[in-house]
Amino acid sequence: MKKLKNAVRIAIIIAILAMIACPSVYADDIYEAKQRQQELEQELEESQSKLEELRDAVASAKAEVDQIDGQIAQVEAVITDYQTQSDQKQLEIEDLQRQIEQKQQEIDAEYESMSKRIKFLYENMDNSYLEVFFTSESFADALNKIQYQLDLTNYDRMQMEKIKGLQAEIKEKKTAVEAEKAAIDELKQAQLDQKAVLDEMLVVKAEALSNAKDAEARQAEQNAYLAGLVAEQKEIVEQLVREYEEKRKKELEEQGMNGSYVPSTGSFLWPLPYPYDSRWISSWYGYREDPFGGGYVSYHSGLDIGAPLNTPIFAVLDGQVVLSADGWNGGCGNYTVIYHGGGLYTEYMHQNIRNVSVGQYVVQGEVIGYVGTTGSSTGYHLHLGVVISDHGFDYTQRVDPAPYLGLY
Ligand SMILES: [Zn+2]
Repeated sequence: MKKLKNAVRIAIIIAILAMIACPSVYADDIYEAKQRQQELEQELEESQSKLEELRDAVASAKAEVDQIDGQIAQVEAVITDYQTQSDQKQLEIEDLQRQIEQKQQEIDAEYESMSKRIKFLYENMDNSYLEVFFTSESFADALNKIQYQLDLTNYDRMQMEKIKGLQAEIKEKKTAVEAEKAAIDELKQAQLDQKAVLDEMLVVKAEALSNAKDAEARQAEQNAYLAGLVAEQKEIVEQLVREYEEKRKKELEEQGMNGSYVPSTGSFLWPLPYPYDSRWISSWYGYREDPFGGGYVSYHSGLDIGAPLNTPIFAVLDGQVVLSADGWNGGCGNYTVIYHGGGLYTEYMHQNIRNVSVGQYVVQGEVIGYVGTTGSSTGYHLHLGVVISDHGFDYTQRVDPAPYLGLY
């Protein structure tokens, strides 16, 4: 019975230890969720720029189609103009044709009346010349009659020649007008050929425009889809952060520790909980009198904030633990270095207990350890260091942490 009680007690202790030791189960989830969000945002950005490219492509394809449309309209106007001219020439030709036919009728009529007169003369001369002669009142009268017929025949002939001349003139004019019409038709045909070329071009360009529009629509769809995923992922991250915060705060409260953050106007979260704010800064970055006495002036590579033993230390930003070890460590004591990307590192020194290990991802506000006075230290405090280095962690590249905390 006692053994069972002990076993239960041990199990509870292990469970509590596991809870204290592994709040990073959630932190890893948050890190992964944030990574996913970044990836999606990257994809969305790429999709957005692709969409803009495609919009430009649609605009230029549309401009080309419009240009060809304009050219076709111009050519069509010219064709219409030539067609009007051609139609006019056609009417002229038809009118001239009618005139020719009319002249032909006149010629035919002249021919007929001339034929009649010739026939009359022939008949009178061949068969009854004498009869005409005798039936006439006088010889003179008979001669007059014949002469009259001869004159009329002569007149008919002249008249016919005149009409023929006019008809020839009209025919000539008709030929000229036909030539003019042929020239116009030829010009019109050239324009029609040009229009055919433009029509073909228009088909190609219109298809290109249609394809560009389709591609744009597909990309817009993809964009909307990605934007949706980004929004969803943001919500997931926010939800995880909320859950994590609740969990973290509860855990710290259960340990009798204050889990509330100190407001910071800088890009960093204040690394210690309330009330250990800027009032508790015991040493600033820069040159100072050596705290170990002797009146030496020494360089202080970070910011010291005093706090009681085991006060939780928060990660100032999301990041990955790149160094973390117990021991003297050149005076740093139990310390942790977190890399935040962009060449930015933060150092947390003199810890009593470290709560993270190398390679682990942490999120802003995560408890990465607890305040102590390990290493070269004269009392419980956190030494916060900041390194900016483009070639990996380099402690010679330390800078003043204060601006990152919004202190100045
Ligand atoms: Zn220090």
